[in-house]
Amino acid sequence: MIDTSLTGVDVTVVGGGIGGLSAACYLAAAGASVRVVERNSQFGGVAGRLELEEFVFDTGPSWYMMPETMERFFNHFGRSSEEYYEIERLNPQYRVFYTDGDRLDITPDLERTRELFEAYEPGAADALDTYLDSAAQTFDIGMERFVYTDRSRLRDLIDPSILRAAPALGHLGSMQSFVEEHFEHPKLQQLLQYTLVFLGSSPHNTPSLYHLMAHVDLERGVYYPDGGMYSLIEAMVSLGRDLGVQYQTDHEVTALEPLEEGIRVVSETAHVTDYVVANANPAHVERALLPASQVDRDPTYWDDQTYGPSAFMLYLGVEGDVDPLAHHTLVFPTDWDPHFQAIFDEPQWPQQPAYYLSVASKTDPSVAPADHHAIVILVPVAPGLEDTPEQRSSFRERVLADLANQTGVDLRDRVVAEQSVCISSFADRFHTPGGTALGLAHTLDQTGPLRPSHHAPGIEGLYYTGAFTSPGVGVPMALISGEHAAAALARDVDPSPFSDLVPNC
Ligand SMILES: Cc1cc2nc3c(=O)[nH]c(=O)nc-3n(C[C@H](O)[C@H](O)[C@H](O)COP(=O)(O)OP(=O)(O)OC[C@H]3O[C@@H](n4cnc5c(N)ncnc54)[C@H](O)[C@@H]3O)c2cc1C
Repeated sequence: MIDTSLTGVDVTVVGGGIGGLSAACYLAAAGASVRVVERNSQFGGVAGRLELEEFVFDTGPSWYMMPETMERFFNHFGRSSEEYYEIERLNPQYRVFYTDGDRLDITPDLERTRELFEAYEPGAADALDTYLDSAAQTFDIGMERFVYTDRSRLRDLIDPSILRAAPALGHLGSMQSFVEEHFEHPKLQQLLQYTLVFLGSSPHNTPSLYHLMAHVDLERGVYYPDGGMYSLIEAMVSLGRDLGVQYQTDHEVTALEPLEEGIRVVSETAHVTDYVVANANPAHVERALLPASQVDRDPTYWDDQTYGPSAFMLYLGVEGDVDPLAHHTLVFPTDWDPHFQAIFDEPQWPQQPAYYLSVASKTDPSVAPADHHAIVILVPVAPGLEDTPEQRSSFRERVLADLANQTGVDLRDRVVAEQSVCISSFADRFHTPGGTALGLAHTLDQTGPLRPSHHAPGIEGLYYTGAFTSPGVGVPMALISGEHAAAALARDVDPSPFSDLVPNC
């Protein structure tokens, strides 16, 4: 929380995604006068809600994980998430279908997961214990030293406590080699690696530090907030209103003009504010909103970054039963390397895709009419690919045929409501480079302090929040980035309360 008073300070937050909504709450609670300006007609950014006839879909995130981070957020304001929505732990957490006909469930019962691992590979239950011990330890160190503590400036690493984090920092080899050291069976390797898709990365380009995700997934669990992920967005806006935040939708910010004092924010109208917190991603801010002459970073910088996947998404209202799909279902080809290559190495539409389905109506009947289901299909695809109506239509056929083949669930003649989203939608709606859905991948050189800082380089009074900054991609991380961005701003307004946090070396 911010200890300093920001009374009399005016802040404009550009973008009402999770990072912007979070920063707005922290700043308003400290006394600042805050307005959030969002270009789209609803808040939440990629975490939106789509209503198609009587079907309701979360447009983006649907895995509610690390609920303690949401609780911590609301607790900072003397609230609890329970005041806004209930959460339920899913069982099974998810179901996996493999293209060889095999299928398995991951449940909250860890002993059952151990037995499942042992059945694939003798000794794998013990190996899982070792793996999860390491994941839990890395998670604890990572959360305390790098996630809850802002290390978004390289100089923040000159801190004695970082030395104590050495075991976690040792995990810098690839996830692929790390998982191979523990498990031989390719299906077990896939189970421990699929969560990297949440980070916009592949097992080959992600440091093994992120094996901590196994602790998040297998031990901390997967939850569903009633009403869906958008309940979190509604709760954040409601909290912000109580704190005095002013909200505007349908307002595209078209320019940010740094002045001697303050920054002019140009949309349909223009106003001057003391500070800007941009939830619009830094690539868009620096290439489209700021005067080129005032941007410190080389214009080619954003072309050279590694971006996480975009997504081909189908929102389907479907008539009838969809068993054996679970609330969360993953469909994996037995060899998924060609799909990762089609995203990161040789961008093209995947021939044998790995994909994910969410059927929230399995848990929450309110999101679909009786005897119907609300289904979201998400296939990660490379950003920057050609995304035409013909391409979408032929890919839709491929995925629905594959689904029928792998799971026995044929949706093709039962779809009663439908919408698709793909690369051009992410680029157009959220101004993401090449239409990436997830932003900067968590490669080694885009991790921790190597991600864009919360301070916009060279522009006084401009800060960044959201998944492009640290700690990174995902709902919990975007939420925490808002806290860090607000604290960075408060530190510049009045450095004195923070002086004891600056290392003496
Ligand atoms: C399909 C998908 C599935 C995901 N699944 C999960 C999941 O299951 N669990 C999980 O934890 N995470 C998941 N994630 C990741 C997570 O949703 C994101 O990391 C997080 O929501 C990003 O929030 P943000 O605030 O950084 O950005 P955004 O949501 O992109 O918000 C940025 C906002 O800025 C606005 N904006 C941009 N430019 C302007 C402008 N010029 N003027 C005004 N406004 C502007 C945009 O409209 C947008 O509202 C998923 C992401 C996607 C896309």
